[in-house]
Amino acid sequence: MTHAVIIGASVGGLLAARALSGAFEQVTVLERDRLPAGAAARRGVPQSRQAHALLARGSMALDELFPGFVAEMLGAGVPAGDLHADCHWYLDGHPMRRAPSSMPVYGVTRPLLEHLIRERVRALPNVTIIDAAEVTGLLHDGRIRGVRTSDGTIGAGLVVDAGGRASRLPFWLRELGYGEVPVSTVRTGVVYTTRHYRYEPGRIGFAVINAPYPGMPRTGVTIRQEGDRVVLFLGGILGEAPPADDAGVMAFAESLPGPEIRDFLRTAEPLDDPVRMRVPASVRRHYERMPRLPEGLVAVGDAVCSFNPIYGQGITVAALQALALSRTAGTGRWFAGAARTMDVPWSMATATDLRFPQVAGPRRAVDRPLDAYLRRYRAAAAHDPDLGAAFLRVSNMLAGPAHLLTPGRLLRVLLSPVRRR
Ligand SMILES: Cc1cc2nc3c(=O)[nH]c(=O)nc-3n(C[C@H](O)[C@H](O)[C@H](O)COP(=O)(O)OP(=O)(O)OC[C@H]3O[C@@H](n4cnc5c(N)ncnc54)[C@H](O)[C@@H]3O)c2cc1C
Repeated sequence: MTHAVIIGASVGGLLAARALSGAFEQVTVLERDRLPAGAAARRGVPQSRQAHALLARGSMALDELFPGFVAEMLGAGVPAGDLHADCHWYLDGHPMRRAPSSMPVYGVTRPLLEHLIRERVRALPNVTIIDAAEVTGLLHDGRIRGVRTSDGTIGAGLVVDAGGRASRLPFWLRELGYGEVPVSTVRTGVVYTTRHYRYEPGRIGFAVINAPYPGMPRTGVTIRQEGDRVVLFLGGILGEAPPADDAGVMAFAESLPGPEIRDFLRTAEPLDDPVRMRVPASVRRHYERMPRLPEGLVAVGDAVCSFNPIYGQGITVAALQALALSRTAGTGRWFAGAARTMDVPWSMATATDLRFPQVAGPRRAVDRPLDAYLRRYRAAAAHDPDLGAAFLRVSNMLAGPAHLLTPGRLLRVLLSPVRRR
């Protein structure tokens, strides 16, 4: 095949470019923003100013796409830790018992991650990244023939939409007569506030994660990052909004289950001002359910599915899609295959959101007993490190949800004493 055009040079688009560089003679990535020379946040990716976690499966997938990528992150000063031994997890308010594991965690900022990926993609001889170039429509004569841009038209045998959450693809398809794209929406009303502090050895563990749960619609997370920084993000859902002033931040931190963030904030030195962002809903566009779609079209990343960011899944799913794209080169029934990549993370994230009675969405008969089991599971992980490790493998997409339901784990959870927070 000759030419593929990708809309958007954020993580999803760059990974798609890497994936297609093997099958296409030429790959062109078109980005609306003026791209920075180094690791910097930018307008088209407002979440780049917010804390990002990279799931263990995501770092493995990046290393598959770009051999040596993890070593390069470490070389750029990204700190590494053990996901289970070095992190303080609070699940439903219960502190998870820590233990050594083989699961790594990396404290990388979103701008550095995107920069490292962008430099790897720039080094591919048949990939060109053009910035300050907005795609305004699709060229179509029964199949997709390329894109229209602010400067003219570009022909392509394959067009990949990686335009993110605000992708224009549903609008363009409607204009071309393909009808409406079915959408699933789960409204949680997430509000994030992110701020960086100076890292001081011994003052706080590698990461602290207070997960929200029914009755506690708040989250507070710290992660050590490159540049001797600790990022703090406070999050609220369902009408809870973390404050940005110092007294309010401290009061919010004091309300979290774990004491670590509160203790850290007592003497921590802030390095910047808090930045706030709202994410009203998780949105999944079901292209796989469209009765017909034009040939020569693929969509990846947040353009297809933007998850509740609290679970940190977006980059990992984009990387898994890129691995799938490198195998299929966008041929065959792409959207059906891509939907399968998203089914598990989407159902894990939305099932966790639907634990909150205020969140509207379809609930199945099995959800109630499953939720009761998982509530007990989270409490039991406070003293059983195998349960904690299995939970982290599943939430980091290293294993499927059935991993939490093996006969041995079922038995230990059901026999575990009921614990109060
Ligand atoms: C607050 C928040 C926190 C998050 N935290 C995490 C986390 O901890 N871990 C994680 O894995 N994920 C997280 N995510 C998700 C993650 O940021 C995305 O999954 C990731 O950026 C991949 O998205 P993308 O490349 O598909 O889209 P985006 O990152 O949204 O990028 C879209 C790109 O397309 C460009 N573009 C759009 N339209 C056009 C056009 N018409 N022409 C040209 N260019 C165009 C934009 O300028 C932009 O560069 C978070 C998201 C949010 C909102």
